[in-house]
Amino acid sequence: MTDTASIKKQESTRTKPLVEIQGVHKLFGSHHVLKGIDMTVKQGEVSVIIGPSGSGKSTLLRCINLLETISAGRIYVHDDLIGYREVNGKLHDLTTKQIAAQRREIGMVFQRFNLFPHKTALQNVIEAPTQVKRQSKAAAKLKATELLEMVGLGDRADFYPSQLSGGQQQRVAIARALAMEPELMLFDEPTSALDPELVGDVLEVMKDLAKSGMTMIVVTHEIGFAREVGDTLTFMDAGVVVESGNPREIIANPQHHRTQEFLSRVL
Ligand code: ADP
Ligand code: MG
Repeated sequence: MTDTASIKKQESTRTKPLVEIQGVHKLFGSHHVLKGIDMTVKQGEVSVIIGPSGSGKSTLLRCINLLETISAGRIYVHDDLIGYREVNGKLHDLTTKQIAAQRREIGMVFQRFNLFPHKTALQNVIEAPTQVKRQSKAAAKLKATELLEMVGLGDRADFYPSQLSGGQQQRVAIARALAMEPELMLFDEPTSALDPELVGDVLEVMKDLAKSGMTMIVVTHEIGFAREVGDTLTFMDAGVVVESGNPREIIANPQHHRTQEFLSRVL
């Protein structure tokens, strides 16, 4: 492909929606947590979600990553309906195997890093590629070493989680998710459990990842990250999207009083 053609291709894939969330509801018993969420994330975009505790942010990410089933609506990732197969407008459950295949395409990083404590950083990163993808240990190690270097931990490959700081553990968790070569990365408040001085390194890794073209949905209270790295900012409250758009514009000039109120508390 010529340079111009490859740039054109990159541009066209950048604008294609990778994630489409349409009218998603989630109930836990009678507790109505998501009340009709619509959201689109294009390929290569960083979509930041903010909102008060209990507004349904984690539940939404968990629905995208099939850790929860939705009560109504549709979620598509790369044109694949997530969790279901649609026949004549009716939804049928996917098999466990099909669900596992969809989940492999999506990486998730949680507030708590949940690394395997009895495995080194490197062993944590090669676990899924070798066990789930059946990659050879040699190939997985090579890739894991690259990823650990990318997150600034090339010299910590043989350290156990207990020998790493929270920020370093979180960066191992990011490397571990990337080892499965996901097309979408979900981050659920990845820096909220960290001491303030460790937050910057993790955000830096996420920024590099964004620059590399990864499609990301990031739940965070780091407004600076949203402003600098986000392509879109969505403010959720009580299970609905209150406001969504350009991060710079929303932060500078929130349209809804609930967004104003929330931002005035976190800024
Ligand atoms: P956020 O991440 O924005 O703080 P969550 O998605 O964690 O919000 O939670 C939204 C609401 O859903 C909360 O009221 C929470 O208690 C409820 N919730 C979340 N998970 C469950 C669950 N597994 N069972 C029952 N209620 C839940
Ligand atoms: Mg949450």
